[in-house]
Amino acid sequence: MLPTAQSIRAINLPTHGEPSASRAERFAAELELKQRSLTTSMQAPNESSLWQRNDVQYPRLIAELHAAGALNESTRALICDSMDLEAAELNELIDRAETDWTRIKQTILPASQPPKRLQCPICRYNGKKETANGRGFRYLSNQTTWREIQSLKNGILLIEGRFEIYDEDTETGERLECRSCLSEFPIPPGIQTDFC
Ligand SMILES: [Zn+2]
Repeated sequence: MLPTAQSIRAINLPTHGEPSASRAERFAAELELKQRSLTTSMQAPNESSLWQRNDVQYPRLIAELHAAGALNESTRALICDSMDLEAAELNELIDRAETDWTRIKQTILPASQPPKRLQCPICRYNGKKETANGRGFRYLSNQTTWREIQSLKNGILLIEGRFEIYDEDTETGERLECRSCLSEFPIPPGIQTDFC
């Protein structure tokens, strides 16, 4: 099935304060930024001054710790104890850091140039040489399938073996797969997808 228009990732985010950007668009853009925060790199040589800025890096660190799932229940309890905070107050600090980091990405960071070549972030494979699993990269996404239900008898739901693609559902969870190490990784920021 060809992906529908909605499933094709558009990553040109509306600029801050743009009057034509609807609330829904802005929300989608913020969500996109949040989802992408882990893969944002700010250590390119021409961005070294940003790397030195505490007002940029501290909110980023907190937001990334949160996004990476490092602030689990036990960690939060330790932090609250050490900082003499209520759980809600810690949540508020994390929210404030995330808001700051989102604003920084929208206003301070230069628009990131899409990479010219794909490279696996895990094994650094560049897709050129033949590997045991083939060559290059694959685009993966999740697709809903459907099967007819035949019957429910004695607690057994009998389902037809043959499946069909559910064309009314959009594909989700798009990502790339490295054919060298078979790891899956997000599409690098700045890259748009198109289908031929
Ligand atoms: Zn790899």
